[in-house]
Amino acid sequence: MKDAQLTSMNSDQVTIYREPGPPIDKERPLESMMKRFDVAAEILGLERGVYQYLKTPVRQHIVSIPIQMDDGRIEVFEGYRVIHNDVMGPSKGGIRYAPDVSLDEVKALAAWMTWKCAVVGIPFGGAKGGVRCDPSKLTQVEIEKITRRYTANLMDVFGPERDVPAPDMNTNEQTMAWVMDTYSMHTRRTENAVVTGKPLIIGGSLGRKEATGRGVMVNTLSALGKLGLSPKDASVAVQGFGNVGSISARLLQEQGCRIVGISDISGGFFNENGIDVSGAMTYVEKHRSLHGWKGGDKVSQTELLECECDVLVPAAKEDQINPAVAKKIHAKVIVEGANGPTTAKADPVLQSKGILVVPDILANSGGVTVSYFEWVQDRMGYFWELESINDRLDRMMRSAFDAVYQAAAKHHVSMRIGAYVLAIDKVAKTLKVRGIYA
Ligand code: GLU
Repeated sequence: MKDAQLTSMNSDQVTIYREPGPPIDKERPLESMMKRFDVAAEILGLERGVYQYLKTPVRQHIVSIPIQMDDGRIEVFEGYRVIHNDVMGPSKGGIRYAPDVSLDEVKALAAWMTWKCAVVGIPFGGAKGGVRCDPSKLTQVEIEKITRRYTANLMDVFGPERDVPAPDMNTNEQTMAWVMDTYSMHTRRTENAVVTGKPLIIGGSLGRKEATGRGVMVNTLSALGKLGLSPKDASVAVQGFGNVGSISARLLQEQGCRIVGISDISGGFFNENGIDVSGAMTYVEKHRSLHGWKGGDKVSQTELLECECDVLVPAAKEDQINPAVAKKIHAKVIVEGANGPTTAKADPVLQSKGILVVPDILANSGGVTVSYFEWVQDRMGYFWELESINDRLDRMMRSAFDAVYQAAAKHHVSMRIGAYVLAIDKVAKTLKVRGIYA
């Protein structure tokens, strides 16, 4: 395997392979977000002051996280929490752990959360957090310590009415349980609405774990409908096999789609006859990655993005589809499961090829939508059945898709710009009605 790196994971030292993705277009994620923001602001004729207000995060926190490692050494990690905007309500957004997390990236992701919540119509602002660390090299105990110290440092920022974190890349239900517990220890009462994406047993919501993948599935069906394609005739390739990628693949397969490609950090697999998604999920549960899986022909990350398929779901990370990759994409539809998988420079390439792109802030909004349901249930102390959660989610996804599709048609722009126009307009109008406090 070319350029593959060996990485050991967590305390039980399972070794996995990392295969590099496509050469990263060095576009900064914040610039990438701002380029789209600027286009939408111009369409809306946003006044200068409002433009300034909405492009600037309201608060940015950088915290130092000293931890005593298992071997007794002290290591200091850096953590971030950026509140991009809280005009619509408490700020909402995940926390990610990765060795390359930066303030710049977190700022972009926080802004994306503001637009995402506005697109789907939930009463939250946008935030994001991150800790610069490599979870594959940390033990569970070390990860727990990092999580607790990060939370303790941000006690004045978090809160059910202030800022509500959730899982993101390399964080999960357990991480959220630690955040909730640490917060609750400091406030001297159990405060389950302070985070979403928690385990069910401590006030999590049914359907939350599957929600982002479910939203991707519903959006894919809406997009296929616009092209007059039935799911039974559609082939799908999914980049990324974490929570979002694997569940999107499984749910799309249940709808009749043929999943022809999947990938994770260890590389990609292609199988024209259809991949056994459940089998692959079971394999990953056991082996931590797809490395060594035998259900398809081995392909590189780039080959997977460029493979013969009708629908491409990039569900891995930012900046995967740059102009060079975009030129070679065969899919008719791209449904962005990840945040920011397409660089701003690749947008016009995809548009000129007539590819229908369901943008991240719509396509992956299922997760934060069920986070909203979880927060509502926690505050009511009354928990809903899965059926009603999925029904509400499906309805909200479908109506958000239609609203974005119509906005795009009205302004003769891509669905991405249509989504930004809708979102920025909503937040700007709310800001104007509330007025500026001085
Ligand atoms: N991290 C997820 C996202 O990017 C979920 C955020 C949330 O539920 O607050 O949408």
